Amino acid sequence: MNRASNAPTERDPIPIDVEAWYTLPAQQVLERLEVNEHTGLNDAEVQARLARTGFNRLPESARRPAWLRFLLQFHNILIYVLLGSAVITALLQHLWDTVVILAVVVANAIIGYVQEGKAEKAMDAIRQMLAPRAAVIRAGERLSIAGETLVPGDIVLLEAGDKVPADLRLLHANRLQIQEAILTGESAAVEKHTEPVRLGAPLGDRACMAFSGTLVTCGQATGVVVATATAAEIGRISNLLSEVETLTTPLVQQMNVFARWLTILILLVAGLLLVYGHFVGHYAFNEIFMVVVGMSVAAIPEGLPAVLTITLAVGVRAMARRNAIVRRLPAIETLGSVSVICTDKTGTLTRNEMMVASVVTRDLTFTVDGAGYQPSGNMNLADQLIDTSNHPTLAELGRAAALCNDAVLRLHDATWKVEGDPMEGALLAFSVKAGIDGEEERRTWPRTDAIPFDAKHRFMATLHHNHERQASIYVKGAPEQILAMCAQQRGSTGATEPLNADYWHQQANTIAGKGQRVLAFASRPVPSEHTVLEFGDVQGSLTLLGMTGMIDPPRPETIQAVQQCQAAGIAVKMITGDHSGTAAAIGAQIGLQNPDKVLTGVDLDAMNDGTLKEALKDVNIFARTSPEHKLRLVMLLQSNGMTVAMTGDGVNDAPALKRADAGIAMGDKGSEAAKEAADLVLADDNFASIVAAVREGRTVYDNIKKVLSWTLPTNAGETMTIIVALLFGLTLPVTPIQILWINLITAITLGIALAFEPTEENTMRRPPRSRHEPLISGALIWHMVLVSILFLCGVYGIFTYALDRGYPVELARTIAVNTLVVMEIFHLFFIRNLYGTSLTWEAVRGTKVVWLTVAVVTFAQFAITYAPPLQRVFATQAIPFMDGLLIIAVGIALFAIIETEKQIRLRLTDPKGATLIVGQTPKSP
Ligand code: ADP
Ligand code: MG
Repeated sequence: MNRASNAPTERDPIPIDVEAWYTLPAQQVLERLEVNEHTGLNDAEVQARLARTGFNRLPESARRPAWLRFLLQFHNILIYVLLGSAVITALLQHLWDTVVILAVVVANAIIGYVQEGKAEKAMDAIRQMLAPRAAVIRAGERLSIAGETLVPGDIVLLEAGDKVPADLRLLHANRLQIQEAILTGESAAVEKHTEPVRLGAPLGDRACMAFSGTLVTCGQATGVVVATATAAEIGRISNLLSEVETLTTPLVQQMNVFARWLTILILLVAGLLLVYGHFVGHYAFNEIFMVVVGMSVAAIPEGLPAVLTITLAVGVRAMARRNAIVRRLPAIETLGSVSVICTDKTGTLTRNEMMVASVVTRDLTFTVDGAGYQPSGNMNLADQLIDTSNHPTLAELGRAAALCNDAVLRLHDATWKVEGDPMEGALLAFSVKAGIDGEEERRTWPRTDAIPFDAKHRFMATLHHNHERQASIYVKGAPEQILAMCAQQRGSTGATEPLNADYWHQQANTIAGKGQRVLAFASRPVPSEHTVLEFGDVQGSLTLLGMTGMIDPPRPETIQAVQQCQAAGIAVKMITGDHSGTAAAIGAQIGLQNPDKVLTGVDLDAMNDGTLKEALKDVNIFARTSPEHKLRLVMLLQSNGMTVAMTGDGVNDAPALKRADAGIAMGDKGSEAAKEAADLVLADDNFASIVAAVREGRTVYDNIKKVLSWTLPTNAGETMTIIVALLFGLTLPVTPIQILWINLITAITLGIALAFEPTEENTMRRPPRSRHEPLISGALIWHMVLVSILFLCGVYGIFTYALDRGYPVELARTIAVNTLVVMEIFHLFFIRNLYGTSLTWEAVRGTKVVWLTVAVVTFAQFAITYAPPLQRVFATQAIPFMDGLLIIAVGIALFAIIETEKQIRLRLTDPKGATLIVGQTPKSP
């Protein structure tokens, strides 16, 4: 290995283009990047470097140009059929028909184009919210910054679960393992160290480097940024950038496929009608052709794909407003059918704002006062203020709390905030109250090595050396874990004595029973030559110092959210790494069912799948679990037929998040690894946001269903009007160009209104829908038949009435056309309330979008009825006032009939009204 000769010789101030960083010793890298690893860069240096290198982000994938996106709107079999008809009508010289058909096509494309643009913007905004952050040392302080602002020379801290934010030359690595599949294709994590590597080593062997975009699966490290943005290795992979997500979900895709087949069916029927009309009905070809075209255009749901896309986009945005960021679109759909939510406790159900409230030593139990993380407050013994200097054990506990700790407290606008784990922040505040100066301790006892906390082993250990050649290990963790690692305990005089495990277990249970999070502390002196901390060093030989209990109150909104879930037929299960006593106490506080039934990780391991599956039916609290248990619970719940939402934050939660129907990661305290595996990320880590997302998911599904339930029967009604006339040789009550018009004006206005429907009032009082519920259900088909028949009766009834009054056929048709449109509007108001009564003030008041579309349609109808130029095009005549009222009366009659039918069915199927009108009756889980 000939390192020296490989190193470039001239000294560039910031040699960002040197590529062989992995061949240089760490110290040399720091020198060349002109940075001190303990203080990092200062602000001015960062700004200067940022100006040179630019932001640390990869270029966005090339967008399709606008014209291409517009043209793609026409790339659809439904539209091809319409375009074909336009060409033929033009050849037949029915120019106005051509114009109207083209207007349908173009209007549809414009709406699709605009909405798609909006949807893309919404997705972009959401991606922005997910931008990764990096922990750095700048100007001597540990900060969390946007990964984009990293520059070469920045000192970055990595821990398990992080996504490496830039290419780093590692300075310190502690059991660091990184999964580099994204670069090397190798899915097993590789171990990293800090020794230089020979020049030309393949990427996977450059063990002293951490590459941008790879995932830290285990350990901790510090590294210096050597390359950012496209200069990083990831910048060489171009195919990563080209994936553009389209706004669709399996259900919507299914609907689009359905629409395509429906089109083919319509074309076949149209062909048959053409033949039948010409040869049996003896219509002139030219005439019958126009009728069949009109019918086909009316029947084809050309607006459907655009409206469904809009519905999804509206849903994604609504969820983002409720702090639920959709990473994978199908999640919108699954969220709506979730029947059980498995959630973390700390930070999700609780606030994750901790404070040490009780402290237990060998013979005394102290209580602690204070406000939040403020490092000042009193310690009491039996309600008597104490002088901490009289209690040396307390001081030792405080020292352990301060040293075995990665967090920093900082005063921010007069309130104390934690940088790092809130629990550790609380310990820092406690250590001050116990009379310890943390800064001072860290100076005299610098840390030489550490075993980072892991949810699997539930403890953290640090090794410290002072300048008098003394060394000591401090350990903190879950009491059961720590007790198993101790042989002695600290006596009240400071001497060690044999461990009284029973006493400590009992103390731990008492603290946990109050809902406090219990932590035990232990220590052990070691010879000063001891500089590497191994698992073996902390097994069995530690001295227990004491325990702390931390309060972490439930979030106030959690209780209500849990209630909502129960009303909505969704089970809530708490899965936590915490003590079973703490879990049960918090579970009871937030209103979980059966809070006294708790299964621990040990219980889970002892149960076989069959027993556990049964137990899952009424146990809602799982304590002292490790991430592997989550996966097993997800799978068993799924095999019970449930749709499972599962939360997670750590790197080890990824498999369970992937396996769950809706994997939910924490945006705030969650690791990048968890976010990558999740379908949904909660910006605020709040359980209530999950419930809000479920509600939005149900709304989206309802709205998709409403769009279908309105479009299909309406189209069927229009179509049947024409088919009946042809089959029975009647006078057409609406002409081809009129039916084209109706289609143009209603399909692109009224249908869209349903995409914006707000959540129905009883949405969260219904049981979850079965995931296998078909969208086109028996009930929907029945509704289509009913509405078609009513449309036929309405149109033919009023048409016959008008002819009977001696009106010319043009006027009779004008009346029939307007009746058809009015019936569509009333049908829309009916559909808006699938699950309840439409006769409430709320329902009648409607939404802005509904009234806007109704206004547009009304205006358009007045225009073709009363404006002379349009009268010529559409062969219409002005309608007398009284007949106008009659038209509205027909609409009201239609509404009254279908609403009554709905109410009867509501009463028959379910007296509580929790029944789908257009859909199946859901079964309770
Ligand atoms: P939760 O489900 O409440 O988030 P965790 O898996 O984070 O639980 O933690 C489980 C247990 O591990 C805690 O109850 C605590 O006893 C211990 N623990 C958590 N964080 C740390 C830490 N940073 N250092 C030592 N022990 C910890
Ligand atoms: Mg945790």
